Amino acid sequence: MSCTQWAEAITFWALHTVGMKCPRCESSNCSKNGHKNGKQRYICKQCRRQFVESYSRRGYSEEVRHHCLKLYVNGMGFRAIERCTGVNHNTVINWVKQAGNSLPDAPPAEVIPELAQLDELQTFVGSKKTSDGCGQL
Ligand SMILES: [Zn+2]
Repeated sequence: MSCTQWAEAITFWALHTVGMKCPRCESSNCSKNGHKNGKQRYICKQCRRQFVESYSRRGYSEEVRHHCLKLYVNGMGFRAIERCTGVNHNTVINWVKQAGNSLPDAPPAEVIPELAQLDELQTFVGSKKTSDGCGQL
C-alpha cells in the first residue's frame, strides 16, 4: 500500500468506522441509527441494543477524528494537530494505531510513529504538501 492509498484509507476509516462499543455485549459491530435528543444514536448489530453516544468512553465525534487524521495524513505533526484542534496528541496517535489495526492492508507497525519519534513525524506520509495552516487542505 502506498502512502497515498494509506492516507485515503485512514481518512475513510476515520469517517466510516463508528468506533462504538455496545454497552451490553461489547461488540464493536455497531452502526448509526439516527439521532435522539441531538445525540448520535447507535444500534448493535449483534444484540440489537440501541444506545447513544454518551455511553462511549471516547470523547470525540467521528467528525473531529476525521479532521485530525486528515491533518495527519497531510503531513501535520501530532503536536501541531493538538494545537489546532485541541485534541491531545496521544489521542490522535491512538486513532492512527486503531486505523492501522483495522485496515487489512495497512503498512507495518513500525511505520506508525511512536511517541518518542514525534519530532520526526513531519516527514511521515510527507509526499503530499505539508500544511502549516489550521485545517486548510
Ligand atoms: Zn450488543
